[in-house]
Amino acid sequence: MGSQEVSNVDWQGKHVTVAGLGVSGIPAARVLHGLGAVVTVVNDGDDERSRGQAAELEAQGIAVRLGDGATLPESTELIVTTPGWKPDKPLFTAAAEAGVPVWGDVELAWRLRGRDGREPAPWLAVTGTNGKTTTVRMLASILEAAGLRTAAVGNIGVSLLDAVLGEETYDVLAVELSSYQLHWSPSLRAHSAAVLNLAPDHLDWHGSMEAYVADKGRIYEGNTVACVYNVADPATEDLVREADVEEGCRAIGFTLGTPGPSQLGVVDGILVDRAFVTNRQKNAQELAEVADVNPPAPHNIANALAAAALARAFGVEPAAVRDGLRAFRPDPHRIEHVADVAGVAYIDDSKATNTHAAEASLAAYDPIVWIAGGLAKGATFDELVTGCAGRLRGVVLMGADRAVIREALTRHAPEVPVTDLDRTDTGAMYEAVREAARLARPGDTVLMAPACASMDMFVNYNKRGEAFADAVRTLAAESA
Ligand code: ADP
Repeated sequence: MGSQEVSNVDWQGKHVTVAGLGVSGIPAARVLHGLGAVVTVVNDGDDERSRGQAAELEAQGIAVRLGDGATLPESTELIVTTPGWKPDKPLFTAAAEAGVPVWGDVELAWRLRGRDGREPAPWLAVTGTNGKTTTVRMLASILEAAGLRTAAVGNIGVSLLDAVLGEETYDVLAVELSSYQLHWSPSLRAHSAAVLNLAPDHLDWHGSMEAYVADKGRIYEGNTVACVYNVADPATEDLVREADVEEGCRAIGFTLGTPGPSQLGVVDGILVDRAFVTNRQKNAQELAEVADVNPPAPHNIANALAAAALARAFGVEPAAVRDGLRAFRPDPHRIEHVADVAGVAYIDDSKATNTHAAEASLAAYDPIVWIAGGLAKGATFDELVTGCAGRLRGVVLMGADRAVIREALTRHAPEVPVTDLDRTDTGAMYEAVREAARLARPGDTVLMAPACASMDMFVNYNKRGEAFADAVRTLAAESA
């Protein structure tokens, strides 16, 4: 199915099953009902919360089946699923057997663009294992600096359905897409797209690394102007090569080194563009200084280059790239400088919930007292520890899966002092910060980049970051 025919879908009387009550399911059900579809929501759970949500939907004329997300309702013509539902669920097997298409929330939004007669805004799309939110926010900041009406949307706060159907009119959208959303988006066609990096994540959902990578690669399908890849991560370039794109669409690389033709990169502390310039064999265009990127850590400069590449693909002037990067403020808990205490910098990277993310922030400081641990989600830590062993002043471990990290440290950094707190309660963060302060010397960085999920000790990574900041402020008050 091409994207063009879809704005004309006649929703009147169409039997649509919405899989999953939740942040994407409820708005999707409402929108489809409003278009005249006959909507049935199916949901695995049947708890108090879902009963309340079901009652609200039923009052509007939407049927809801609680406690059975497996059976395909009779006469279903289309399933619109919550992106998180695993592809091997019986509901989808039944759909495949019956020839019923399955769309995710992003696909639905894509298909509903332009229904109200407005010219649909092109999408500049970003995926990758880490750095999506940061890059999309940087991109939106650059587009705004260029005077364009835009929003950061997708897996990031503002829902795509709202962006596509709401009052606001946009010139262009900066869209964050997860691997799940891409899996369920068969006809999505971005103007330009970037895959930032690829490391194993969510493999239980996708079934294998190959399947995960293939889903990420869908973001390049049908791109019209640029497929942006990471020169340091050849798998991203492979995906560009395999993608079926529009005639004339270009492969654009970003690199922390000197850029070749059709690349963006860094020369003497300057972000330069050798892709969107006349005579790219000889010319390069200065975009911004490394110091304009906040924070100027290597992985974040890569994010800035990817954002710049997408903006340049859309025709944004160099000055707007610089202004947009200068105006950008990172979201909380992503390498956030909390305070300096006794000459030691305290950095909150609670969002580093996997080893690939932690590797990036550990590469940005030297020497480091590292606070780590939590739920490891089956990860191994040998590579991570090997990469940073020479820069570790000491390590403080906490959380449920601290043993795997401790063992990796014993193997690859036996001389680094490790304090194992043997605690999984929320209050452990105070002790962790105090221990880190004891290990640190003036000029060091205490980095809380746990490389693990937070749910063993905290409600989420935000709460973990706040606990760290609280503990640092307590320490600062005590040492004042
Ligand atoms: P996502 O939206 O993909 O989860 P974020 O921008 O929220 O990404 O960043 C999540 C974490 O990943 C950050 O805390 C940071 O440590 C790490 N990170 C950010 N950008 C990169 C990158 N380009 N490569 C590796 N790690 C990164």
